[in-house]
Amino acid sequence: MTRVFSGIKPTGHLTLGNYLGAMRRWAEVDQHRADALFCVVDLHALTVHHDPARVRRLSRQAATLLLASGLDPERCTLFVQSHVDEHARLSYLLECVATDGEMRRMIQYKEKAAREQRRGGSVRLSLLTYPVLMAADILAYRTDEVPVGDDQTQHVELARDLAVRFNHRYGHTFTVPRATSPAVAARVMNLQDPASKMGKSEDVGPGIVYLLDEPDVVRRKVMRAVTDSGREVVYDRESRPGVANLLEILAACSGGNPEELAGVYESYGALKKDTAEAVVEVLRPVQQRHRELCADPGYVEGVLREGARRAREIARPVVDAAYRAIGL
Ligand code: ADP
Repeated sequence: MTRVFSGIKPTGHLTLGNYLGAMRRWAEVDQHRADALFCVVDLHALTVHHDPARVRRLSRQAATLLLASGLDPERCTLFVQSHVDEHARLSYLLECVATDGEMRRMIQYKEKAAREQRRGGSVRLSLLTYPVLMAADILAYRTDEVPVGDDQTQHVELARDLAVRFNHRYGHTFTVPRATSPAVAARVMNLQDPASKMGKSEDVGPGIVYLLDEPDVVRRKVMRAVTDSGREVVYDRESRPGVANLLEILAACSGGNPEELAGVYESYGALKKDTAEAVVEVLRPVQQRHRELCADPGYVEGVLREGARRAREIARPVVDAAYRAIGL
């Protein structure tokens, strides 16, 4: 059976980008067709300035929202990365296979390091080695497929390269994984700045729709989305990124196709109104289920405990084999 692994960082409140780019597919498709593991990757949240209590709170919230979005513990394994030691154990071995140059070429590293410096902070070494830990997350489970948004494909490529290199040097140990992205909304953009992605870690602002935003907040954010001075609704990511983003969000939420939807609308106002309602409808059941789950924190705890046990059972023999292969 195909093995699927993917993760989400508890660095902020989960966004519509996380949901449309990744989480929704995990719940609707991946857990039904594959042996799927989903992970709240809390070690990754330590790569930038963080508040310990907030990371703990956000990890729990991310796990609760993953269950609310439809992950079923009977069908998939949901766990927290730091509960399974194998991730950190394998990461060190992979640091001995990856090169410094490879790490410095990563686009996200360059962007995030520049942001940390702008904020006056120093860049943590773990920010540089983050993609190695991510490779360990993936390779420890002999993963075949990694369903992610577009922004993560370069990191999955690195995991592929490290698997191939390790296998070549030390004998066949890892499955070589590949990334899969959704057909629409693989990169949801910030509503106020359509040149940058709608990311929970980027900043807080009116351009980001959070999964727990009240309907009226969603409507206000979408109605105020930045478009352009044109009038005609056309789908063109290059010259009309704001409108294209709205069309993609609408298409992803309503099941349509962005080019066809462009032909349906005569004004930006009407497009925004329908997009806002489509987003509200997509979020409604997730928010409802989230409220129910928050009333039963013991249930979420139990799911994560059992998830970690199952994950450990898969990862331990793989990581043990890697230790032996490399000469330890
Ligand atoms: P973030 O960038 O919000 O901190 P993570 O790195 O935790 O998100 O990513 C979790 C998943 O959500 C990944 O598969 C990532 O590709 C996806 N994702 C994040 N932001 C977006 C976005 N704006 N559009 C589409 N997918 C996204």
